This record gives sequence, C-alpha cells and structure tokens, in this order.
Amino acid sequence: MSPLLKTKDLRIEFRNDDGIWAEALCGVDLSLDPGEVLGIVGESGSGKSIAMMALLQLLPRGARVSGSARFKGQELIGMPPARIRQLRGKSIGCVFQDPLSAFNSVLRIGDQIAEAITLHDRSMSKRDALKEAERLFELVAIPQPAKRIRQYPHEFSGGMRQRAMIAMALANRPELLIADEPTTALDVTVQAQILDLLRDLRKDLGIGMVLITHDLGVVAGIADKIAVMYGGRIVERGTTDDVFYHTAHPYSAGLIGAVPSLDGTGKLQQIDGTPPSIFNRPSGCSFHPRCSQVEEICRMQTPELESVGETDCACHLPLVTRDAKVAE
Ligand code: SF4
Repeated sequence: MSPLLKTKDLRIEFRNDDGIWAEALCGVDLSLDPGEVLGIVGESGSGKSIAMMALLQLLPRGARVSGSARFKGQELIGMPPARIRQLRGKSIGCVFQDPLSAFNSVLRIGDQIAEAITLHDRSMSKRDALKEAERLFELVAIPQPAKRIRQYPHEFSGGMRQRAMIAMALANRPELLIADEPTTALDVTVQAQILDLLRDLRKDLGIGMVLITHDLGVVAGIADKIAVMYGGRIVERGTTDDVFYHTAHPYSAGLIGAVPSLDGTGKLQQIDGTPPSIFNRPSGCSFHPRCSQVEEICRMQTPELESVGETDCACHLPLVTRDAKVAE
C-alpha cells in the first residue's frame, strides 16, 4: 500500500533578528498509511506543529523549508500556492487548538462551513451547502443541528465549538485530517468526548489522521503509531504499544511518567528543565541537560535514530539495552 503521507529529511529553518539561521526541524521522516492514526508527541517547541504547517504552506514568511513531503505521491514542498489551496480544506482537513480564533466571530457557523464547501465545489448552491453543514453537525453529534448552524461561535461552548471545527474540517470529505492539540483547551470530560468522536470518525470514514499533542495520554487510545519529538528531531518512533511497553528513550519515559494513572495512584513524574531554544541548542543530544541518564558521549555526539529493540530511538544509551545489561 502506498503511503497517504510521507516526509523525508524534512527541514525548516528560521532566521533571528541578527540574521542568524537555525534549524527548527532537523530532518524528519514520517509515514502514514490511509486510514491510520499517527500521534506526534512532544513539548512546545519540539517542532511537531511546524512540521505539519510546512506541509500546508502555513509557515511564517521567511521560513526556509527543504526535504520532501508527499501526499498521495504529490510533492507538497514547493507546490504552487494555488494548487496547495485546492488541497488544503479539501483533501487535507485541519482542526486547530483554539476553535474560537479559527472561526470568524461575526459570521454564523453554518455560513462559514457552507463557504468552506462551496469554495471547493462551485456547483453546489448555498442552500445545499447549509443542508450539508447540518448533516455534518449530526455526524459530530451536535444537538439541534438546524438551529445550531444559525448561531454564532460565541453561542457555542468550548466542546461544541471544537465539534463544529471538526465538522468544518470534514466538510469536503478529506482523506487526511491534521488535528493540532484538538483537546488542549477543553476540560477532561469534554476532552474524552472529542477523542471518542475522532475515534468513531476514523472507524466510520476511514480517514488518515495526524494527531499532534503534548500529552501521550491523548494518543494512547487512538493512535496506531507514535513519533516522539524533541528539539526538532524524532527521538523515538514505533507502534503505540511498543512506545508505551518497550520504551527506549528517556524523554519518552519521562512523558509516560507524566501521564496520570486511571486509578489515581502513583506519583506523577516531571521532566526538570525546559526545552532548548533553536538558537541555543545544547551540543550532542539536545536532551542532555535534562536527562537523568546522561553520560559524557551524550554531550559530544548527536545520536542517530536507529532501530533499538522494538522501536526506533535516537539515544546513545537507550533504556532497553540498559535494562538488558542490568538483567545479565
Ligand atoms: Fe539521555 Fe544521553 Fe540518551 Fe540523550 S543520548 S537521551 S542525554 S542517555
């Protein structure tokens, strides 16, 4: 099966006020098959969102992008703007973290969804597009859809707005849905409802999804595979089960330790320190100032992403080999 989305050596550079260029994304390889869910996980500044923004050509002006990103075999990097606009919102749907700012506050939500539909299907009348918006509201379980499509964004609760955002992203039956922190602004109950909705949509519509989040707990129940990012690189990659049960990278282990347990027992762990600035990255492994396992080699050499045990991992001293040595 050919991949729905494949990136190869994807790199992004930004320039600061002093004219110095630095890499925010340092050669990322990702692959997603049709109908699959990929979770991209990491703290703010890890590069997870800008990787997807680069695909959609939504990066700030002046960013330098290189490498390859193919959607159904079509190269997205360098694609003419008119062509990428045809893909964005049609074949590739997007759900953003803050639906309040994603919607226009002075237009009815139904009209905004109808516009997203007619923009890509000029043969459809406004009336039919509004009917389709109503059907989409039903699909994402918004009650009283005929009434709701006539309301404004401020009349929706946070959870309902996020459902409406998902409805808009699905308006043109995309084959790929990119959801960037879709549950971060929501309380835990609504968060669980939105994740259930995404899970159902994936099952019913068979669309591929990229779910970007800082919370490994969010992707645990929905993603087929996970890429953990730190400092603009993938530091661990594998199936969801393997990343959780055969964790090789100390950073992934830290993120897993920060997920609350279902029964509320056990102490939550924290990863001390903060992620590095792209203009001031530590030498060698950029996680080394925060890593409890650090050794001299970590400060000297950048580890390559390679197969270690059940996952691919970029660490000189992966936990799985360390555990094996202890057991000997
Ligand atoms: Fe920690 Fe060293 Fe592995 Fe980096 S390479 S994660 S510093 S053990």
